Amino acid sequence: MPLWRTKPTSSTEDVPVENSTVLPLLEIKQMDWGQLKSEVKTCTACPLSQTRTQTVFGVGNEQADWLYVGEGPGAKEDAMGEPFVGPAGKLLDNMLVAIGLKREHQVYITNIVKCRPPNNRNPNNNEAQQCEPYLARQITLIKPKLIIALGKVAAQNLLNTDDNIASLRGTLHEYSGIPLIVTYHPAYLLRAQLEKAKVWEDLCFAKQTMQSLPANNHLSIP
Ligand code: SF4
Repeated sequence: MPLWRTKPTSSTEDVPVENSTVLPLLEIKQMDWGQLKSEVKTCTACPLSQTRTQTVFGVGNEQADWLYVGEGPGAKEDAMGEPFVGPAGKLLDNMLVAIGLKREHQVYITNIVKCRPPNNRNPNNNEAQQCEPYLARQITLIKPKLIIALGKVAAQNLLNTDDNIASLRGTLHEYSGIPLIVTYHPAYLLRAQLEKAKVWEDLCFAKQTMQSLPANNHLSIP
């Protein structure tokens, strides 16, 4: 089963959303791509539904070996309905090219939450937990060989930890039996150019890890 944090949330995180819906968890676990996309599109399970322009489901090859997971859509993503567009998206594309990948081909890209947190804040624990069944189903359908967690929010949620990103980098982790590597979020890199060398190390580590995996290493997730 996917691991997910169950930390207590603050009172401000627990504000119920008007007309919110309860996710049909059992049904989500059985959904195909079409059903899942349409469920996300109309989701009102957390307060982020009230401020989004549209949901941002994910993009790329639905049978990709590589899955990249960020934290949540920003303003441009919210406007366009696609994850990682704008300067951070461009940098992510460059990171992919650096290890011989293209977002349309061997890669699927999505986020922990599918709706934009206002003012580009991090999604809170409640929002991440509400949205988790969608990501879990995406991962089950994709069956990636390797997951790359982009930034602290993605890493902490996927790994069920409060450890900081510096301590999570450079180690091969696991999400439901799938190898997982942590690196910095491209939006952070745009502000912290000095960290680029570390990201290059992470990318090389990821590429070596992928090369060392057996060709049919698509693990089945219960
Ligand atoms: S962030 Fe996820 S759980 Fe919250 S409204 Fe959007 S799709 Fe639903």
